[in-house]
Amino acid sequence: MHEKKNIINASLTVVKIERPSESYWRLHFSCDKPLVVNPRWICPHLKLLFADPLTGEIAFPLLDENNKISVSDRVRQFARSYSIRDYDERNNHIVIDFAIHASGLATVWSQQAKVGDQVGFVGPAGKLEFANQYLILMGDVSALPAICYTLAHLPADHQAIAFIEVNHKTDIVDLPKHLSVKWMIKDANYPNQLVDTLMNWDFSQHDNLLFWGGLEGSLAQQLRHALKDKYVNLAPNAIQITSYWREGLAEGEFKHRD
Ligand SMILES: Cc1cc2nc3c(=O)[nH]c(=O)nc-3n(C[C@H](O)[C@H](O)[C@H](O)COP(=O)(O)OP(=O)(O)OC[C@H]3O[C@@H](n4cnc5c(N)ncnc54)[C@H](O)[C@@H]3O)c2cc1C
Repeated sequence: MHEKKNIINASLTVVKIERPSESYWRLHFSCDKPLVVNPRWICPHLKLLFADPLTGEIAFPLLDENNKISVSDRVRQFARSYSIRDYDERNNHIVIDFAIHASGLATVWSQQAKVGDQVGFVGPAGKLEFANQYLILMGDVSALPAICYTLAHLPADHQAIAFIEVNHKTDIVDLPKHLSVKWMIKDANYPNQLVDTLMNWDFSQHDNLLFWGGLEGSLAQQLRHALKDKYVNLAPNAIQITSYWREGLAEGEFKHRD
């Protein structure tokens, strides 16, 4: 297992801003410390630390006496999880795609960001690594950046399929033709389309399945339970479904896995 070298007090500076599609602002950042991104990480992510709007200060976590990261409530209040959409090792730059939604510290910050603006971060980290699994990636707009990164870094001898529900057809990304991707457009009359599509898919020709998902909390919970009920012989760690956000709650107000 690759040793995680979390940076706990570095800053990212906006160097370029793009609007790649209807649902996102894409921000390119330079980092003031050398980033360590293991190319074998599946869906690597980091915690962005935003300035307290009252003081303008960014609060960083501390290391406790056991060298473990200790996160105070103040740090947690202004911290949000984001994925690496792209990483340029030579220039120590990373790219993050921020999904646009009505309210929230991170989405509002990203929509107003200017070149030179700064945000703190903790990470990056990856919970899972490529290990010859048949990778089944599932997600909505919040997980599309992580899924695109992972498909782009899929080792040549690995297989994957992705099930992605986007908000607009402009969010659909051109991916290499040999990759199997099932795109869906969000449909208010059919909130379960991603879960249903996945549960009706036949994976019987594949071994060593790894289900990975990032999506809204109630759908994530539904998907996790449905997969566990259907694939009773799979090891518990072969189903990794995370609530990337939860309707009506800010990050920090809900558990990512329940
Ligand atoms: C490991 C991990 C990686 C992630 N990577 C990304 C990423 O690369 N890009 C990305 O855009 N998101 C990503 N997310 C999701 C992101 O952390 C949440 O969407 C987060 O809530 C955004 O913070 P905010 O300050 O904008 O909104 P918050 O203050 O957390 O929430 C404010 C309101 O916005 C709503 N809300 C939050 N997110 C969404 C959404 N996507 N769509 C609609 N309503 C929403 C909440 O329900 C709440 O009512 C990731 C989450 C995790 C756990």
